[in-house]
Amino acid sequence: MTHTALFRHFGLNPTQGSMSVRTPIDGSQIGRVVSDDAPGIEAKIARAHQAFLQWREVPAPRRGELVRLFGEELRASKAELGQLVTLEAGKILQEGLGEVQEMIDICDFAVGLSRQLYGLTIASERPGHRMMETWHPLGAIGCITAFNFPVAVWAWNAALAFVCGNSVVWKPSEKTPLTALAVQALFARAAAKFGGVPEGLSQIVIGGREAGEQIARDPRLPLISATGSTAMGRAVAPLVAQRFGRSLLELGGNNAMIVAPSADLALAVRAIVFSAVGTAGQRCTSLRRLFVHESVRDRLIPALQGAYARIRIGNPQEDGVLVGPLIDMASFSRMEQALQQVRADGGAVSGGGRVLANLYPNAAYVRPAIAEMTQQTAIVKTETFAPILYVMTYEALDDAIALQNDVPQGLSSCIFTRDMQEAERFLSVSGSDCGIANVNIGPSGAEIGGAFGGEKETGGGRESGSDSWRAYMRRQTATLNYSNALPLAQGIVFDAV
Ligand code: NAD
Repeated sequence: MTHTALFRHFGLNPTQGSMSVRTPIDGSQIGRVVSDDAPGIEAKIARAHQAFLQWREVPAPRRGELVRLFGEELRASKAELGQLVTLEAGKILQEGLGEVQEMIDICDFAVGLSRQLYGLTIASERPGHRMMETWHPLGAIGCITAFNFPVAVWAWNAALAFVCGNSVVWKPSEKTPLTALAVQALFARAAAKFGGVPEGLSQIVIGGREAGEQIARDPRLPLISATGSTAMGRAVAPLVAQRFGRSLLELGGNNAMIVAPSADLALAVRAIVFSAVGTAGQRCTSLRRLFVHESVRDRLIPALQGAYARIRIGNPQEDGVLVGPLIDMASFSRMEQALQQVRADGGAVSGGGRVLANLYPNAAYVRPAIAEMTQQTAIVKTETFAPILYVMTYEALDDAIALQNDVPQGLSSCIFTRDMQEAERFLSVSGSDCGIANVNIGPSGAEIGGAFGGEKETGGGRESGSDSWRAYMRRQTATLNYSNALPLAQGIVFDAV
């Protein structure tokens, strides 16, 4: 489908405005959008707050019905939205479709959740009393998202936020506003079918860093869920903390795999390739550090280099292509700088460098790189958002775990082993320090059923499955006295009257 036909599918006509939208496929401009100024953002937040005041009164299972209808719209437009993700973010179509499927999955999850927002009944120490815990809607939720998952991350937040009785103000990445506007159009279709959705329940703010900061500062947004670089989190978190708001931060990762002597190497190679070069190394969960037991190094690394040599790099819209472009030339420069540093640190680089420059002079197609390091230097401890895989060898598992944990980030990790003791050690209290730890699975490609997020500089937030919904609600402890006495807690005697 041409991009104008795609835009038409979503009722978009992106020809006006000061913000230029480019596709990373060839660097050309595909549209223009109007960015919001400060008063415009202010008005959208005000509308979202008003919408929250109405939406919170709607019973949760009924709120779930809106999310169910939205999931139906996503199913009906999965192909088109997947293509738009490919066009705007540059990921291959399979991954674009996978991202939309993730949205559908979280909608299904949220629909079920809308009947399961359970509280507790707690034993009271006072006779004739009952104590309970109730979860109430929180407010309008500010959601700031990154370019690399331009639609799924919003859905993780929004599907839960809506069933929890909240409204959402979404500031997508300035690099991917069109997918956000398309999602908003699908949401509007679902809302029209539902009928009576408060106006402003789902808002989009188009803009960059300043728009994000305005959202972070606004006290009418009790929760800011922000996904992006650690630098962004460092700027956003104090703004939210200053007004005693809550933040849910999903920041950079520096994910690792340990390949133990007993590992199934063929399986490991497949997992390494998918997680290190998939999305051109631009996933927060991309594999960046590989710790290989020295006894298997000579079998694993040549097999890996062979697999890398067979990877098709090219236009992500074409069948058979596995690696599309980096988001822009600035990203390419950062990859080049990182590889330069690797060489200065004594690392041996295979791959890397620009490809297809003749065909796409304004796009950043790169060959994924493998960098063999003798030490985990500062550049290895830094997240470079590009397909660079640092390889190091180890002798003792405890050393590999210590090295794996010796980085500022704490998102995802994994071990390939058939040794039960090693697997359990990796998952134990003194094993991986990451929010995600896998055995015989790469670090990327999480399912929505589990809570997603990481520790340390990754920000500590948890989104998506498990009990992540609690972040979108406020907890109230209520004690009810059905006796004729007024006993005080802790047995305190206070006989004033
Ligand atoms: P980025 O930090 O440049 O931008 C992310 C979002 O934050 C954008 O919407 C941007 O406009 C906004 N922003 C930037 N500075 C801001 C500020 N000072 N105040 C308010 N908003 C601000 O990130 P990116 O390049 O779009 O995405 C890549 C990064 O995101 C990587 O570090 C990646 O690991 C991370 N990421 C993390 C997760 C996760 O779940 N942990 C998921 C996806 C991406």
